[in-house]
Amino acid sequence: MDSGNKDNVRYTATDMKDEDYKTLADYVGNTPLVRLQKISAGNDNRLLVKLEGNNPAGSVKDRPALNMITQAELRGDITPGDTLIEATSGNTGIALAMVCAVRGYPFVSVMAESFSVERRRLMRFLRAKVVLTPAADRATGMVRATEAMAAKHGWFMTQQFENEANPAFHRNTTGPEILSDFADRRLDYFVSGYGTGGTISGAGQMIRAARPDVRIISTEPEGAQMLEGKEWQPHKIQGWTPDFLPDTLDTAVAHQNVPVSDDESIAASKALAVNEGIFCGISSGGTFAAALKVAERAEAGSVILAMLPDTGERYLSTPLFADVPEGPDEGQELLDGLDY
Ligand code: PMP
Repeated sequence: MDSGNKDNVRYTATDMKDEDYKTLADYVGNTPLVRLQKISAGNDNRLLVKLEGNNPAGSVKDRPALNMITQAELRGDITPGDTLIEATSGNTGIALAMVCAVRGYPFVSVMAESFSVERRRLMRFLRAKVVLTPAADRATGMVRATEAMAAKHGWFMTQQFENEANPAFHRNTTGPEILSDFADRRLDYFVSGYGTGGTISGAGQMIRAARPDVRIISTEPEGAQMLEGKEWQPHKIQGWTPDFLPDTLDTAVAHQNVPVSDDESIAASKALAVNEGIFCGISSGGTFAAALKVAERAEAGSVILAMLPDTGERYLSTPLFADVPEGPDEGQELLDGLDY
């Protein structure tokens, strides 16, 4: 067999330069764009989704986590060994824990107790310290607790809700990825929910600038319509809509807001799994439920893109899986009477 090594030289690992290989950070972004094959709004529209769960730590938040740390390093604000702290619904914490593990920063994650236990354990597995705050204190309470701990211990706050490095990275990566995926192709609607607003603001601004014909659609929980100036109420769409409008959210980026309920979000997430094999979280279901509402009203032939922020694996303990049995109670009867 021709090894391609004509001079029969034996290469050693040191002949291979670091630049010849990618590192984990190189795989953040460039997420898959997938055309749905079965689910439709029944009016000749085309639905596509962008799978942010394919990022190395399983969510869209790998993007800002990487950039917030990189920018702080470039500014000289942090050096390995410094402790970082962030208030998070979990995905930013998991993403920061990943980057901190690689770059050598102790990391403290401050999360309301209401977010899934999978999130806590994933962060701890990555050696982060997880501090839980009461659910009743909402996102505002997580942020205040973070500020108090940072002040007391001199820790560095990444501040995803106000850090410009968060939307900036979506302007530089998510937005251009979408523009390149749809270059010379029709795109009518871009649909995204928001937590910090980094995704919809950064990607939305780029899409608006390059393709002014594309309508940007925001979505949020029916019971917490902050963009409509309504009162915040607890919702089940983890990662979405804190009890304040973050600085990182450009409230003017969306042309239209399409709220969805918790139940619609969970149902849409299940529908993506069952019909398309796409395994995503509750906010992904929410975004997709909003995209379906948009598709129902859109002109025939419209192309609609929905952002799916994370993977379904961090929701095993949540209402998303409430009716999925874990005991040997389903399918067992198939073995009855079989000699094997
Ligand atoms: N969905 C989930 C599951 C999330 O964790 C987040 C981030 N908190 C979002 C959506 C929203 O992303 P962004 O912060 O970019 O608005």
